[in-house]
Amino acid sequence: MDTKIRRKCIDELGRLVIPKDMRKALGIDSDTELEISSEGDTIFVKKAVSRCVFCSSESDLVEYAGLFVCKRCLKELKTI
Ligand SMILES: [Zn+2]
Repeated sequence: MDTKIRRKCIDELGRLVIPKDMRKALGIDSDTELEISSEGDTIFVKKAVSRCVFCSSESDLVEYAGLFVCKRCLKELKTI
């Protein structure tokens, strides 16, 4: 994807519209969960990824009570 820099204004409620072509290219629709963070004067927005609450692994996850644990950590927990 080409890197396009666009100028946008947030509305009075603090909302920012992500351009439709960017949403389409990244597979983002109205149900897509996003992560937002900031560092210095820069704001980062990316598609949310489920991670293990213990080791941050993104693979072999099991969900429990809205949290994710990878199978490796789950196996270690069973030895405690
Ligand atoms: Zn883990």
